[in-house]
Amino acid sequence: MSVQPALAVHGGAWDIPVDWLEAHRDGCRIAFEAGWKSLADGGSALDACEEAVRILEDDPTFDAGRGAFLNREGDVELDAALMRGDTLDIGAVAAVRGIANPIQLARQVLEDGSHIFLVGSGARLFAREVGIAGCAPAELVVPRELDRWKQAVEAGNFRPDSAFGPSQKKGGTVGAVARDQEGRLAVAISTGGSPFKRVGRVGDSPLVGCGFYADDELGAACCTGLGEAIAKVVLARLSVEELRGDQEPEAALKRAFEVLERRVKGLAGVILVDRRGRIAVDFNTPHMAYTFRDAQGRSGSAPDQGE
Ligand code: ASP
Repeated sequence: MSVQPALAVHGGAWDIPVDWLEAHRDGCRIAFEAGWKSLADGGSALDACEEAVRILEDDPTFDAGRGAFLNREGDVELDAALMRGDTLDIGAVAAVRGIANPIQLARQVLEDGSHIFLVGSGARLFAREVGIAGCAPAELVVPRELDRWKQAVEAGNFRPDSAFGPSQKKGGTVGAVARDQEGRLAVAISTGGSPFKRVGRVGDSPLVGCGFYADDELGAACCTGLGEAIAKVVLARLSVEELRGDQEPEAALKRAFEVLERRVKGLAGVILVDRRGRIAVDFNTPHMAYTFRDAQGRSGSAPDQGE
């Protein structure tokens, strides 16, 4: 039985500066088109999500792969994860240095199947074992982020959570959720975390249920925003859980955001696909970058031209 595919990709939620709008719009569109082609050709939801996220990792506009934020020591440390909704298989990596596409490493963790989550030097060791080439850590650093880091060092009192407030120039975490023609769901996510984070800091993104979740019986969700708050309410799983009883995805996200705001005053954006291929996007930051097309033929993208 073949069903209509659905796909949403996002490039973070925050106050996107006007001169970055085009790059965010284009980046999301290009990643979406690659993922959509893969689904249209009969590819799996997992492959489509991985492909879209890998393209976003390669785009220095976003806080993932090359172009990610630097930590307090001035290094790039990356987190990534993906999940299949049919088997509930997971692959995640965190605090990884010198890997340009951590989503590919997370995929290898998933395919290997003996563990679900590898961090730091252990993840690097595994990368070598499965033949994923490392890169010089400096190759992931772009001048924009080096400048931001220098300013944070000079200011001396930089707080990573301030980056999610209004008028802060920051790139975004990237992610994708999909349903393929066989009705299988998947999610993928990748991030450099928050700017000027402590060495070894891990946010919501690679934590199952927090930054990502996929279950063919309900739906798949991918989050972005201030990770410490998102993790406290396990936002991805909460969003998926709210679909129970065949609830509309928009209504499910409304309830999940109500919990996020009431319990932890969190700032976030979420993309959600349900098992019927309906998609909803919600955020309580000034902007969110995304592109989607659902199984009912609805499509959307942001930031809009006029924003
Ligand atoms: N949620 C990510 C983190 O806290 C950051 C983001 O989504 O922009 O690591």
